[in-house]
Amino acid sequence: MLTRTGVDIDTLDRDDPLKARRELFSIPRGVIYLDGNSLGVLPRAVPERLAEAVRIEWGESLIRAWNAHGWIDLPQRVGDRIARIVGAAPGTVTASDSTSVNVFKVLAAALALRPERKVILSDNGNFPTDLYMAQGLRDLLGRGHELKIVDPEAVEDAIDESVAVVMLTQVDYKTGRLHDMAGLTAKAHAAGALTIWDLAHSAGALPVELDAAGADFAVGCGYKYLNGGPGAPAFLYVAARHHDTVTPPLTGWMGHEAPFAFDLDFRADTGIGRMRVGTPPILSLIALEAALAAFDGVDMQVLRAKSISLSELFREEVERRCPDLVLASPRDPQVRGSQVSFRFEHGYALMQALIARGVIGDFRAPDIVRFGFTPLYLSHADVIAACDIIEEIVATRAWDRPEFHKRAKVT
Ligand SMILES: *Cc1c(COP(=O)(O)O)cnc(C)c1O
Repeated sequence: MLTRTGVDIDTLDRDDPLKARRELFSIPRGVIYLDGNSLGVLPRAVPERLAEAVRIEWGESLIRAWNAHGWIDLPQRVGDRIARIVGAAPGTVTASDSTSVNVFKVLAAALALRPERKVILSDNGNFPTDLYMAQGLRDLLGRGHELKIVDPEAVEDAIDESVAVVMLTQVDYKTGRLHDMAGLTAKAHAAGALTIWDLAHSAGALPVELDAAGADFAVGCGYKYLNGGPGAPAFLYVAARHHDTVTPPLTGWMGHEAPFAFDLDFRADTGIGRMRVGTPPILSLIALEAALAAFDGVDMQVLRAKSISLSELFREEVERRCPDLVLASPRDPQVRGSQVSFRFEHGYALMQALIARGVIGDFRAPDIVRFGFTPLYLSHADVIAACDIIEEIVATRAWDRPEFHKRAKVT
């Protein structure tokens, strides 16, 4: 099949080095899933692994499973798997808590490393929960910290010697704009500041090099591109050079050096373990661990090349076919994550109409329709099929029906 601009879709899909990975996922018939950036699809390995864990590990081994089935080491095992995907050394990442809670933990830890400085620098492209957590921590500390929020393009110039921490989301959740992690980290360090990177829309979507970039702290989601399932455990990274000096703000027993010594006083674990808090969600960790196997042997540069190929095809086709949709993402794929967003006045209704036809993306207020591209299970043929439906719905105004305008709780 050739597109109207002469792109040979069949050849692109036939030569796709990741095409066999699609078999690892359970994608409902009739669905073109462009929302893996919000909730990844179900990996085929997960239901069976979970059923076995419930029936045998929980059901039969009971409390013995903490040792017999290695439950106690799961946060670290899963952390090490994620570490490979985000360019971090083994032992520097742990799976734990939610991304929001991890933002709190690393921000508090970072501020404690720069006690004389008062500014937390972030941008208005950051995901609100990150900013909310910073506001709550600022108020809780009551030490006169200032959360400074600037435009994404103004972050670099706003880094100066008043800044304690530069806290950014690498890929803007609305537009897909990609920050230069290495460049901004170097600039922050030159000013004596620390960095926190939120990788919610980066981990599993593009090559991330936390260690090479010199990042200090990072957090990210398990349920987006990592496909760990709804509410999957998040992750947290602390650069190895900070392991001995970082102070955990939430001092739960799972972060203690010897939880089963039951000492009355907290003594931080060595290494990343000190950032853990309470008993981890074992079933969710088991699901996430099984899901991460889909990344085994994947070269993240190859994944990135396919991501760009898919998202560029989509951008070109939608811009050509639907002039009423205005590109909200960077046109240059090198400064864009694995998503493409468009502004459309009736974006909410348009997305509901698309979902009714099996093209699943999502809507972000006030007017953004967002489409994520997950290279492990999407093909170029999927992209063209989605574009055909988008074109038809926009051209016929099929979105303009009362049921598509009715707002649900989750958009
Ligand atoms: C999705 C997302 C989160 C979600 O945080 P939770 O605690 O899992 O709800 C946080 N930060 C960013 C940048 C996100 O995109």
